[in-house]
Amino acid sequence: MHHGKLLSILQSVFNCPTAPFHEYHVRDHLLSLLEKFPHVSVEEDDFGNLIARYQRGSSKARWAFGAHMDHPAWVNDPKGKKLPEGGLDPRFPDMRFLGGVPKSYLPTGEVAHFGEFAMWDLPAFEYDRENDLIYGRVCDDLVGCVAIVALFSELERLEVPGACYGIFTRAEEVGFVGAVHLATKGRLPDDLCFVSLETSSPRGTVEMGKGPVVRVGDRLSVFDDEATAQLLSAAESGGVEVQRALLDGGACEATAMNLFGVCATGISVLLGNYHNCAPSGRIDSEYVSLKDVKSMIAVIVSLIVHSGSRRDGVKSRKDARARLEQRLKDYGPYIRATKCQFGDS
Ligand SMILES: [Zn+2]
Repeated sequence: MHHGKLLSILQSVFNCPTAPFHEYHVRDHLLSLLEKFPHVSVEEDDFGNLIARYQRGSSKARWAFGAHMDHPAWVNDPKGKKLPEGGLDPRFPDMRFLGGVPKSYLPTGEVAHFGEFAMWDLPAFEYDRENDLIYGRVCDDLVGCVAIVALFSELERLEVPGACYGIFTRAEEVGFVGAVHLATKGRLPDDLCFVSLETSSPRGTVEMGKGPVVRVGDRLSVFDDEATAQLLSAAESGGVEVQRALLDGGACEATAMNLFGVCATGISVLLGNYHNCAPSGRIDSEYVSLKDVKSMIAVIVSLIVHSGSRRDGVKSRKDARARLEQRLKDYGPYIRATKCQFGDS
């Protein structure tokens, strides 16, 4: 996708304030972006998750790309006898903090109010051109939302025949509430594979700027082997540099789908200052590498362009199996030479 166009979509989506259960600003803006795509139709389920479908030609969609519209934030206490736990701060007696942020960070951030909720008072969007980094009060997971919009934009531009879903969920930060609603209310076709598009803290040897990470799992579960291999195949076919790792710093919606029997995998852009928690111990902007974001978009575009059906088979896995079988033949002389030491003969 053209650099300037991607930056402008990122900026417009990052400008939308959001919080768990208060995703309407993001939702409205995404709807305005999606309505421009002639081959994309959008439905909203009764929970408020957006289910967008690209359909060009008659083929069946095999992939659903998912991102969540919320981010940890302060939320007004609704009327209710007993509210689930949340962070409390004497500055905001009628609000609580929803989302995974250590308590010690909460007093370190100033807030900006948006009606029924409040966010950290940080710039919505900044682009550090020199280092090619995007800073925002919310990267997690507006980056994923933008990636889905960019995917549709590229499929339209390239006139790609095929079909896929883009799913924008609510209330991920409090335990995948939107995704669980989606998985349990049966709104997705049975043979669909869900790909969580996320931002995640680096783990192990992966590094920001070296490509998005095809996740083999998260803190709670291991992802679908074939689907993960197919993502890696798509990256190879598209000539996109990716990394592969278990990112177990957090859990993502792929685990929620997994637990409810939906085939699921994930791809993540590495994130700095996860959930606005800077190494200094204070609240600060999250940041990602724009190059990694572009590569994530390129991988999912390639997945639809090169392997629209996950039943087409996974070339890299077939190749790997063939290589291992060949080894059995290649080492035949050694096997025969030592045969007398093993087995019945
Ligand atoms: Zn998060």
